[in-house]
Amino acid sequence: MRDATTRTDTKSWWKEPFRLVQTNLRQPDALYDQRALARETREFGATALLYNIGGIFAFYPTELELQAVNPMMKGDALGDAVEAAHAEGLALVGRFDMSKATRLAYDAHPEWFVHNAAGEALEYNGTYQACVNGDWYQDYAFRIMDEALGRYDVDGVFFNMFGYTNFDYSGRYFGICTCDRCRDRFKQMYGHALPEVENFTDPAYADYLEFQDRTALELRAKVYDHLHKIAPKVAMTGHRGKSDLIRMEVQRAVHRPQPEWPHQSGEQARWARAYAPHKNASSTSANFVDFAWRFHAETAAYHTLRMAQQLANGMTLDLYLLGVMDQDDKRPMAGVQELFQWHAGVEDAYRDLGSGARVGLYHSLKTNRYGRRDAGGEDVIKAAFFGTGAGFRGYFRALYEERIPFDFVLDEAVEGRTEGPGGFEALAGYDAIVMPGVTCLSDEEAAVLDAWVDQGGVLLITGETGQLDARGLRRDAPALASLPVEGPFTVREDMKGAYLRVSPDEMPLPDSRLVMLDGRFWEAKLRDGAETCMTLLPPQRFGPPELCFPDEESDAPGAVTRAHGKGKVVWLPWMPEVQYYRDSLPSHRTIMTDLITRHIPGAPAVLQGAGAVELTVQHQAGPGKSLVHVVNYGGQRNNLYEEAPALHGLRLGLRNAAGDTVTCLRSGKTLPLGAADGDGLR
Ligand SMILES: [Zn+2]
Repeated sequence: MRDATTRTDTKSWWKEPFRLVQTNLRQPDALYDQRALARETREFGATALLYNIGGIFAFYPTELELQAVNPMMKGDALGDAVEAAHAEGLALVGRFDMSKATRLAYDAHPEWFVHNAAGEALEYNGTYQACVNGDWYQDYAFRIMDEALGRYDVDGVFFNMFGYTNFDYSGRYFGICTCDRCRDRFKQMYGHALPEVENFTDPAYADYLEFQDRTALELRAKVYDHLHKIAPKVAMTGHRGKSDLIRMEVQRAVHRPQPEWPHQSGEQARWARAYAPHKNASSTSANFVDFAWRFHAETAAYHTLRMAQQLANGMTLDLYLLGVMDQDDKRPMAGVQELFQWHAGVEDAYRDLGSGARVGLYHSLKTNRYGRRDAGGEDVIKAAFFGTGAGFRGYFRALYEERIPFDFVLDEAVEGRTEGPGGFEALAGYDAIVMPGVTCLSDEEAAVLDAWVDQGGVLLITGETGQLDARGLRRDAPALASLPVEGPFTVREDMKGAYLRVSPDEMPLPDSRLVMLDGRFWEAKLRDGAETCMTLLPPQRFGPPELCFPDEESDAPGAVTRAHGKGKVVWLPWMPEVQYYRDSLPSHRTIMTDLITRHIPGAPAVLQGAGAVELTVQHQAGPGKSLVHVVNYGGQRNNLYEEAPALHGLRLGLRNAAGDTVTCLRSGKTLPLGAADGDGLR
C-alpha cells in the first residue's frame, strides 16, 4: 500500500485521486492536539485534511478587527495544524466561511449584511448572514484571505456556502435581501425593482433568479482570481464557475420527502464530470443524519454506497465530519477507513478516467429554474417534474436499473458555458440522448441538438420538450426542427383510468396488451415519414366492475419516431418517467429504455444476473485500460442502508475489450477474458 507520507509535495494533492477528511471544527476543537488529529487522519488513509481558517471565527490569531477570534483557542491552532499535517505528508485545505460574521462586523457595518423587506437582519445564534453584494463578501473577505494566506502555507482552500440564502439553519423562511446594494445592482442590471415575492407571479422574479446566479458566480471568479494572485499554488475547490477542482456534498435531511433517493452521489458525480471533465472532483459524504443531529452518524454501508457511486462515476473520496476524528458515534469509521485504505492501494487505476457511456441523460438547469413559470398548478403529476425533478429521476432510475451506463449532458455545456467541450462537441460522444420533460430550450441549444440528430444521434424526448423558451415562456412553435410532429398540440389533462394499447411486435412486453397511463397526454399532427407505436385507450370507467369496459378507442400514438438526417427523434407524448418514479412499474421501464436501445449499438458492457446493481464503464486514456464498476445497492431498503449481501453468479460481458485478462481490484484476482460471442461481448 502506498503510504501517504511518501507525498512530499503536498501542493499537488488535488491533481491526484485524493482522499480528503473534512473536519468542520467547533470552537473547543482548537484545543485538540493537532499532531494527534493529523496522525489520525493519515492513519485513516486520507491524503488531505480540511481544517478551519476563518471568516466567522478565526482559528488563528487574526489582527483584523472585524473577524472574531475563536474565543476558546489558546495559541495558534491553524499554525499547529499546518505544521502537523505537513509532518504527516498530508495536504491541508483551509476552510473559510465568509457567509456570516459576528456582531463585531455587524455592529460596525450593518449594511454589509442581509436585510429583508421588513428591515430585519438574518441572524442565527449571534451570527449574521452576509449579502453577496455587500462589502463583507466583496471587500473584507479579501483582507481575511490576504492575512491568512500570507501567513500560512496551506495547500488548498474551500469556501462554505457561497451565495444567497433565504432560510436559516432552522429552516425559517426569511425572504430575499433588499439591502441598498442589492436594490442598486439589480436596478442597474435589469432596469427595474427587486421582486416582492419569490415566485413567478412577480414579473421581476425570473430576472432575480438570473441575478443571484450572475452575482454569485462573479464573486466566486473575483475570489478565485485574487487567490491565484496572492497564492498561485493553492488550489480552490468549487462547483459552478471558477475553481481548480469540484467539491460538492451529499447529505440527508430527515424531513426530505419520500421516496428515498439513494443516487445523490451518482447524480453529483455525473454532473461534475459533465461540467468539467478534466477536473478532479469529490462530493463529501456528510457523516451526520441531519444538521440538527450533527453527531449521530450514518452507517458505514451508507457512506460506502455513496462512495462506490462516486468512484464509479469519476469522483474521488471525501468524508465530512463535524468535529475531529474522535467522534461520539464511531460506528461507520472502520468501514470507511477500510475503503480509504483499499483505494490508497489501487489509486493508479483511478487516474485520468473518462466515461465510456454512450447514452446521455439531459440535465437542464433552465428547465429546473424556469420550467414552473408556465405551469399554473402544483399538482404533482402535472407540474412538479421539471428539469432535475422526479421525471429526471424516473429516467435516471430506469437507465440504472436496466444497467445502461449513462452520463449527464448539461444544457450549460451545449450552450458552451461549462469547462468541458461545448456545442456539438458536448453531444458528439453519445449514441443517444434522453430529454425527459425538458420544457425549456434556448434557440441555440435546439439548433445544436438538431445538428447532432442530423449527424446520426438518437434523441428521445417526452411531453412538452422544447415548448418553452430559455426563460420559461411559451413558444409559438416548438424549438426543435427535428421533432417528428408539428403543431398545433392539444393536451388531454387527466388520464386517470387510461391505458396504452400495446401489441407484441411493438414492444418486448409479450404478456401485456395494456400499459397504465396517467398524467397528461399530448396529440399533434404527424410529419411525413413518422412511425408510431402503441395507441391511446382514453380514460374509461373504473367502477362498478360491471361497467369497467372501454366504449371509446383512439388511434393517438403512444410513441412517434421519425428520421431526421442520419439520426432519429423519438417522441413520447406522455411522461412515463414521472409515472415510473412514482409507481415503479417495469412495463414503463421497458418502454422507456427499449425505445432508446433498439436504435443504437450495444452498450460497452453488459451484466447478467439478478441484483440491484449499477453498472458503469470508464476508460483510462494513457494505459488504454477500461474500468468497470458494479455498485451493489442490495443493502438499501428505502432510507435504511445496511451491508449489501454478496451477489453470486453475475456474468459480465465487455464489448471491444482488448487483452487476455481482467483484474478484479477488490479481490486482487486476475481472471481470463473469454472469446467474443456473437454480440461481440467477451
Ligand atoms: Zn443584499
